[in-house]
Amino acid sequence: MHELALVEEILKACQQAAASHRMRRVTAVHITVGELAACQDALRFAWEACRGRFPPLEEARLEIQEVPARWACPHCGTQYPEPLPRCPGCSAGHPRLESGLELRMDYLEGDGSP
Ligand SMILES: [Zn+2]
Repeated sequence: MHELALVEEILKACQQAAASHRMRRVTAVHITVGELAACQDALRFAWEACRGRFPPLEEARLEIQEVPARWACPHCGTQYPEPLPRCPGCSAGHPRLESGLELRMDYLEGDGSP
């Protein structure tokens, strides 16, 4: 499952960020995920399954900001939410994917060291 590997990467990055910010406990992790990058339910499931192995993230919530997929016409710039074979504006082909594949960690919430 692709989401499991993604979640492990995110958890590793969070663990490093928590260490460099001297956080004793992470309560939430905010990420941005493109609609096409990963399935949210699978990410949440993998998060629950893996976080216990990544102190201090054992209790951290996963907060997902989803970015919808958008395609744009390379000819006239019209944007549309599906990969249409023909642009609805000018009927040119080959739409370009504008967004929907993002996956990034935004920030952590938690307690610092005293
Ligand atoms: Zn067009």
